Amino acid sequence: MPVYTYEHSGPACAAGATIEAKQSMKDAPLTLCPHCGGAVRKVLSRVFINTPRGNSSLKNLGFTKLVKRDKGVYENVTARDGESRYMHADKPETMPNLKKTITD
Ligand SMILES: [Zn+2]
Repeated sequence: MPVYTYEHSGPACAAGATIEAKQSMKDAPLTLCPHCGGAVRKVLSRVFINTPRGNSSLKNLGFTKLVKRDKGVYENVTARDGESRYMHADKPETMPNLKKTITD
């Protein structure tokens, strides 16, 4: 289950200014601190704020990035071993091999 961070709207309690709560994505966000009952609000996780910058970090994270080079031609700037560097919209064999990327 994902861990969400909440911060106290008022003064921090013994649990700290921010608290973490393990919640299902279906759960409604907490409004009250489970430790002190004070009001809390959800803080966006850093995962959503720190976006990878370079193509190599995207590649390491398992992303595939296609850059349009021409009509129907895309450069796979994160091409892995055995993948075509250029993808042609009308040639399925040049598509990125997602099965290879998704291994675990
Ligand atoms: Zn609290």
